[in-house]
Amino acid sequence: MVKFLDLQKVTAKYADEIHEAVLHAIDSGWYLQGEENKRFETAYARYIGTQYAIGCANGLDALIWIWRAYIEMGVMQAGDEVIVPANTYIATILALTENGLKPVLVEPSIETYEIDDSKIEKAITSKTKAICIVHLYGQCAYTEKIGALCEKYNLKLVEDNAQAHGCVFNGKKTGSIGDAAGHSFYPGKNLGALGDAGAITTNDPQLAEVVRALANYGSQKKYVFKYIGRNSRLDEIQAAVLNVKLHHLDEDVQLRKEVAKYYIENIRNSKIVLPKIFDWMQHVFHIFTIRCEKRDQLQQYLSNNGIQTNIHYPIPPHKQECYKEWSEISLPVTEIIHATELSLPMSPVMTIEEIKTVVEVINNWR
Ligand SMILES: *Cc1c(COP(=O)(O)O)cnc(C)c1O
Repeated sequence: MVKFLDLQKVTAKYADEIHEAVLHAIDSGWYLQGEENKRFETAYARYIGTQYAIGCANGLDALIWIWRAYIEMGVMQAGDEVIVPANTYIATILALTENGLKPVLVEPSIETYEIDDSKIEKAITSKTKAICIVHLYGQCAYTEKIGALCEKYNLKLVEDNAQAHGCVFNGKKTGSIGDAAGHSFYPGKNLGALGDAGAITTNDPQLAEVVRALANYGSQKKYVFKYIGRNSRLDEIQAAVLNVKLHHLDEDVQLRKEVAKYYIENIRNSKIVLPKIFDWMQHVFHIFTIRCEKRDQLQQYLSNNGIQTNIHYPIPPHKQECYKEWSEISLPVTEIIHATELSLPMSPVMTIEEIKTVVEVINNWR
């Protein structure tokens, strides 16, 4: 059996260090907003290459707080438009609608699955206030053209970096390219906690201050409430785990790249479209995605042969019941991706035997 992602093994790899860090946090008697948080925020800001990193409860909240902060700062208001890739995970979009902002769905490229920068300008209106890029599957979605559009139209650039910890564009980590970035440390992400966790990174001191307050009941000073916030903090035990795992992130990313390289060099089946890698620095393979016209048949065949796969994602946001008002929007590229995408087993703990098994079974599929 080849698991899609063996989280038990992912944790076991660093078990001694994690156990020690968690026990230390437990024994400290201090469980929120303490030393582990400070240590993680400092280390993560340094790793990403931003002035500030602010821990919070999860990746969705990280994005919610960025948009809320821009509203509190008077940069945006309810009803404003934000450009997003139509094929993203729902959280990117939930963060906008929760704040009364209007997501404007732009098609991805069928080559990269990232937002198609040639289709962005047509979607910009007088109400557009930002572009939200999503480094989907672990690949950098930023392009010089996107940067130029933000300049030209005076738009904020927000990055959803939930899937791309460790990814680099022109020497800069994703999460440090735009005005602000939301990060998720959901257990299955490239940098995963042992529960929910997230962070915001930015170089903007005002934004940093506002998001920190929003995630802490809207308070900057004990018992004084400036904003209508929520309790959305990163706890000390998760921060302790993240402090250990951040240390090993680059090594784990390298292992993911090796799995990807083996797949790309050895999978040979004319019915399967492999990812085209334009720059190995710019992909950290959170998800190794292939496409196949007979995706459901392939998935069943792989399952019959003991190989777990996943689909990212079976239903695009505009076809979800919660957004039924968008169901008539025409997004053919997005729909092709959702109908044909299949994600192969991918993690830093796969054995070479497992990787070879996946390749062999796929190559034998007729
Ligand atoms: C996982 C994910 C999120 C949300 O993160 P959570 O920590 O699960 O709330 C947001 N955006 C993308 C693209 C994701 O993959």
